[in-house]
Amino acid sequence: MTPGDLASSTTAEAVDAMDQLHGLAMATHAQLLALVGDYDRRQAWKEDGATAMADWLVARYGMAWGTASEWVRVAHVLESCPTLAARVNEGRLSFDQLCPLATLCAEDPGAETDLVEQTEGYSAAQLRRLARRSRRPTNDDANEVHRRRCLTWRPTGSYLRISGRLAPEAGAVVAKALFRLAEGAPKDPATGAYDPFESRCADALVGLCSTALTEDAGADRATVVIHAPLSALVGGEGAGEAEDGCLLAPETLRRLACDGRIGAVAEGPDGTVVGVGRTTRVVPAWLARQVRRRDQGCRFPGCRRRRWAHSHHLAYWGDGGSTDLENLVTLCHYHHRRVHEEGWRVEGAPAGELVFVTPGGRVFASRAPALRPEVRRRLPDSGGPEPVSPDLADTG
Ligand SMILES: [Zn+2]
Ligand SMILES: [Zn+2]
Repeated sequence: MTPGDLASSTTAEAVDAMDQLHGLAMATHAQLLALVGDYDRRQAWKEDGATAMADWLVARYGMAWGTASEWVRVAHVLESCPTLAARVNEGRLSFDQLCPLATLCAEDPGAETDLVEQTEGYSAAQLRRLARRSRRPTNDDANEVHRRRCLTWRPTGSYLRISGRLAPEAGAVVAKALFRLAEGAPKDPATGAYDPFESRCADALVGLCSTALTEDAGADRATVVIHAPLSALVGGEGAGEAEDGCLLAPETLRRLACDGRIGAVAEGPDGTVVGVGRTTRVVPAWLARQVRRRDQGCRFPGCRRRRWAHSHHLAYWGDGGSTDLENLVTLCHYHHRRVHEEGWRVEGAPAGELVFVTPGGRVFASRAPALRPEVRRRLPDSGGPEPVSPDLADTG
């Protein structure tokens, strides 16, 4: 079937054409893999200056390294597994099915024919599961996994991308800690819904690291440095930059500058450093302790989280607000973000009642409102004297 026939084909004809083309592509792929295996056995890639067959494939065809090394591995398995090779040549396996099947056949070459027949019709996911379970790790494997552990991060525009590899038991510790913290994250107060679980896990990781920095005795080494134009720190104009080059929005800068060991390097319009923010100016440790003792956790109504808490300036210091007990309240990370980036307002007295107002004007007070007189009158008579209040006297 040619593309010109497509418009007039029935669905059955279209499916048949796709079946045949996929089969043909896989049979062709098998021939290509046979050549790859042969080229590798002859180490012909050396003549082209490569250091391995996979590197040669990466350079020649622009493949990802993982795909290239999988091609080379599967190519060699097919050389010694005729039943598997025949199945691919018939076009009856996808590459995603072939990879785990090759792993299974390589582990038990004597059982190749049985394996290929018994797993007929298995999905790629089923085969991957089988392949994963078939392999009993040895101590050498465990040492290799440990040796290859890594964690890397790199800025990509507005994000820091983190990726890594951990031994299973170490990974389980990380996963459990993140899971437990993410489970305890509060709901969005405005919508009453939780953020997506993956987002809460990301918050949990930042929370763990923030706690580690807060407890670090080496204040200088534990300071996170941000670069920002003065106009962003004071007037909220322009973006800042984290040490690794990720960009920060003005309100994020103000939140970071509210508390924590953040050293702000203020820059003039031409990028010259006009001052290095005194981290002590932000909130000295003795004052932060006093604020935390008074507040006993986040001051958002119903929150009270103590972990990953910040001292928020009610009147921002860049706008002339003072750094003292009367201008500071404790907020957890979640609620501190609401106030800065999401535009909530905090009003009231740090030592008394605080009121949080959403950008839409909805009010959350840190104290329950008093029973209104008309509601109180509906209560069954308790026998005691009616409490006297100015409101009750007016209406009643
Ligand atoms: Zn703040
Ligand atoms: Zn909170």
